[in-house]
Amino acid sequence: MKIQEADAKSLLLAHGLPVPSWEVARTAGEARAAAERALTAGAERVVIKAQVLVGGRGKAGGVKLAASADEAERVAGAILGMDIKGITVRKVLVAAAADIVAEFYLAATIDRHAKRVLLLGSAEGGVEIEAVAAEHPEAIVAIHAHPYLGLLDGEARRLAFDMGLGGHWKAAASIARGLYRTMVAFDADLVEINPLAIVRERGPDGAIAERLVCLDAKITLDDSALPRHPELEALRDLDEENPADAAARAEGITFIKLDGTIGCMVNGAGLAMTTMDLVKRAGGEPANFLDIGGGARSERVAAAMRLILEDPKVTAILVNIFGGITRGDEVARGLIEARAQQTRDVPMIVRIVGTNALEAAQLLHEARFVTAASLDEAATKAVGAAAAGAAA
Ligand code: GDP
Ligand code: MN
Repeated sequence: MKIQEADAKSLLLAHGLPVPSWEVARTAGEARAAAERALTAGAERVVIKAQVLVGGRGKAGGVKLAASADEAERVAGAILGMDIKGITVRKVLVAAAADIVAEFYLAATIDRHAKRVLLLGSAEGGVEIEAVAAEHPEAIVAIHAHPYLGLLDGEARRLAFDMGLGGHWKAAASIARGLYRTMVAFDADLVEINPLAIVRERGPDGAIAERLVCLDAKITLDDSALPRHPELEALRDLDEENPADAAARAEGITFIKLDGTIGCMVNGAGLAMTTMDLVKRAGGEPANFLDIGGGARSERVAAAMRLILEDPKVTAILVNIFGGITRGDEVARGLIEARAQQTRDVPMIVRIVGTNALEAAQLLHEARFVTAASLDEAATKAVGAAAAGAAA
């Protein structure tokens, strides 16, 4: 699950990382009020940033500076409602603009191959790290954290020096360790600060000093670990969740949309993968990965069918159920119910084995469903039906 910059910054603050304060505004008027507060508190300018779950907002025109409350209102008005990579901006972050001296990159991510958290740092901050990795891989410093010991102080310092943050090594090392702690505490997949910036600030004594701060923050949480952090569920941005994903989540269905034409409804992740493989071997392309889970009742089957049929590219549906806890007759009832409500006539091939397979076969036969005895047969029939549908 991706979370907005403002929420990511709250999680970083909770772990003691230096993040300049901000407000979130949903209207130009709110942005104006927030800007007035920042300007009154001494800021020379404010920065207004689109809160959308995509990167490259700056390049897309979603990050702008303003020198007065009037200008802030105007700029926020222009950013709100803007389309950034297909997403409509519904809120903006407003903060005192930082006086940036240099921009760095620092992130914690998971190296699945090494089975460790990987810290990545670079002096080439502000730009997309993928571009740096492609053009100057030597400009990226990487260090693995030990799963039990965590990121050690010496390692964090080493990272800071190798990134060229020598003058700020103490703060940089502490930030690197903070990123690691944030990553582990919230079961994140990614905690990325880009830019981690050296900024010039006027202290309470009036003197100008440099400080290292997290100017941008991106956190991706591990969906499978969310049950361990029920409080993080509140950070899900429903404005940006696509309706199919929301419906699948509400029904307890694992659904991932793909590009093919054959809708697949399967119980169990392994069986779903196998089914997709066999569809491909039979010459077809799966339209989705869909796992209805264990013990699925007929309502959930019907919901899964609706999800599949919402994809206009689907020209055939393959249902492959291995009854264990899931009862074949329940699934059959769900399919019959779903077909009765179906708005689009798409051929469906059903294979149900295991618990109550005979009852299922009886029900499906009475309802004149096309069935298959083996998975190979089911895949071949589905691919044939999809091709016939495409030709028609
Ligand atoms: P992204 O483009 O979505 O990654 O958004 P960022 O928050 O990283 O902002 C993009 C760029 O805008 C940064 O790399 C900075 O160069 C610039 N920027 C962001 N915040 C400020 C700020 O407070 N002051 C100044 N001067 N520039 C900023
Ligand atoms: Mn950024």
